[in-house]
Amino acid sequence: MAAEAPGQARQIHGSCHCGNIRFVFHWPGAGDSIPVRACGCSFCVKHGGVWTSHPDGRVQLSSDDPARVQRYRFGTETADFYICKTCGVAPIVTSDIDGSTYSVVNVNCFDDVDRSELVESTTDFDGEATEDRLARRQRNWARLEMVS
Ligand SMILES: [Zn+2]
Repeated sequence: MAAEAPGQARQIHGSCHCGNIRFVFHWPGAGDSIPVRACGCSFCVKHGGVWTSHPDGRVQLSSDDPARVQRYRFGTETADFYICKTCGVAPIVTSDIDGSTYSVVNVNCFDDVDRSELVESTTDFDGEATEDRLARRQRNWARLEMVS
């Protein structure tokens, strides 16, 4: 579990449209703005995926009905997009690296964050070597916990 000073983390709640896939992002720092990345890959452009994470954060993921969660991989096949089979929304992406699972969440799935807190940048990691990609995720993505 990541070090987390009591009272200094905020909890951001997110979900797919029907509520089957839910996450709680334990975000360090109460008043900071949230950097978000509109991914330029072909899946995210088509799907409206806009992502954020925090290396010192922690994400708890849960699903009412895991049978209605589709995992989708493409390209380097090193990341899993979690897509709700009922409503079609993709709230989270995970990547397994060296025995740990790292994650980014879709800010369009946030339920309790004001849009004015989101600071957007566009990046495109197409063409990045797989090894560099995994190292970057390990540096920047939050640890994931599954909650039943
Ligand atoms: Zn859903």
